[in-house]
Formats: sequence, structure tokens, C-alpha cells
Amino acid sequence: MYCDLHTHSTASDGTTAPSDLAALAATCSLGAIALTDHDTTDGLDLCAEACRTAHVRFVPGIEISADPGPPPGADPDSPVRRGTLHILGLFVRGDDPHLGAVQQRMRAARDCRNPAIIDKLVELGVTIEYEEVLELARIEGTAILGRPHIAQVLVRKGYVKSVQDAFHRYLGQGAAAYVRRDRLPAAEAIEAVHHAGGLAVLAHPVQLGCRDEQQLTHAVRRLTDLGLDGVETRHSDHTRADTLRFEDLASRFDLLTSGGSDFHGSRKPVELGSQKVPFEVYERLAEEATRRR
Ligand SMILES: [Zn+2]
Ligand SMILES: [Zn+2]
Repeated sequence: MYCDLHTHSTASDGTTAPSDLAALAATCSLGAIALTDHDTTDGLDLCAEACRTAHVRFVPGIEISADPGPPPGADPDSPVRRGTLHILGLFVRGDDPHLGAVQQRMRAARDCRNPAIIDKLVELGVTIEYEEVLELARIEGTAILGRPHIAQVLVRKGYVKSVQDAFHRYLGQGAAAYVRRDRLPAAEAIEAVHHAGGLAVLAHPVQLGCRDEQQLTHAVRRLTDLGLDGVETRHSDHTRADTLRFEDLASRFDLLTSGGSDFHGSRKPVELGSQKVPFEVYERLAEEATRRR
């Protein structure tokens, strides 16, 4: 039996409702799933209830966007960033007030960012309006509005050939209309997860953008010193070799391992349960979460 400990719903930027995820998980014969929406626990209650009905074990989770910090060797105050640091919180209490305050802060940061991106686009002669992007998110039913929505509007209006093209030319880091989002320091992300009774897991380490093993080891050591509990070794962006590399890293730092597809519904060509994460991975994490309570 397998589990999938990294999924998204319409409570963030996925296209599957939290209550529909459970039935889908049962169809895929998954024994357990975690709902880990970006910076929100809004979908947890609905998903938990549906999982109970579907006889699928449920892990209440969240995926927090944290600040990866400047690249090694750069000035500590440098605004330059490379890569993505996402911290998964697994087995969190969705109604924890401290985690709630973090979510509110992240929402405010995102709410400022989207209009700023559109302002930059307009300056570049790309005429799109915030309303068009809002409308698209409304049609999709996703609660979080972000760059993928802006990209889709750019495609529809013929400014770019594809979503990838939109990120490459306008929206990606370093591109013409890129606006840096205020991100939570890694220490605060890990602390918020712990405060809510959860385990802090480094999501898709491949996205950290480390150039070599030395940088990767350095990054994981820093996070471990901040209280990191585990590493996501299986993920849709990882090759088989990556998974083995990250499993080795986890054992060297005595960290737990986790894994999931990062399912986003129809937004990404990734199937629920596709990472074939053994059910024992769920059991080990559940045991550790219980032990800490
Ligand atoms: Zn992520
Ligand atoms: Zn994710």
C-alpha cells in the first residue's frame, strides 16, 4: 500500500476540492494522504471529514514558502535569491493561532505582490488588468491567485506562447516583471510548524538550486540547526538518483523522510499517488508526531 504526503487543493492553487481529494485517493488505493496547501490550512477540515468517509488516513498539513536566503558566499544582506525553499508542515493543528497569524502574513504579502506585477507588466506595454486575473481564479475556483493565473491571461491575450514562456520572459525570478515576495525566514516557518504540533519537512530539495553536494549539505545543515525534522526524498521533480541522494542526506543528518506527488489537479501533469511512497513512510512520521505530543 502507498501514501501521498504532498497534495494541493482549491484552498490554494490546486483544481481539486479538498472534499474530492479523499475519493480520488481511495480510487488510487492510497492508504494515507496529506493536504499541504500553500500557506493555508483552510481546506483541512473538509478533507479530513471526506477522508474519514473514504477510509483513507489523513495528515493535516501546510506548505510554507520560506526565504532561501542569499546564495552561499553572497553578502548576508544581499537581496539576491536563488532557488525555492518550501517547508512542509505535517500533522499540524489547523486551528493553531500562531500558524494562523503566519498564514495571514503570507496572504497579505501575496495580495500586495500581484498588483505590483501587473503594474510592471503595464509599464512594459503588456496591457492586462487585475480584474482579468481575478476572474480567471474565480472561474477555476482556486482561493489563491498567483503568477500561474497571470501567465494564463498573458497566453490568452497572445503576449506569450505558453505559461513557461510567460515565466521565462516576464514572471520568473530575474525576468522583466518579476516582483520579489516577502518570504518568511526559514527559522520562523519551522517554528510555526512546531508550534502547531507538526513535523517540519524540507520539500523538494532539488528546487533549492544548490550547485553541488557541498552547497546542499550546507543548506540542510543550516535547516537542521533550525529544527528541521525531515526531508522529502520522493517528489515528482526528483529523478531516481535524486531520491537516493536525498535519502542518504537524510540518514546522515538523522532526519525523517517523506514523499509525495505535489498533486495540483489539472494544473500540472502529475497524478495523485504517482510517487508510490510506501505506507510505512506515513507510519513512521505518524509515530514520531504522536511521540512528540
Ligand atoms: Zn513546493
Ligand atoms: Zn507543493
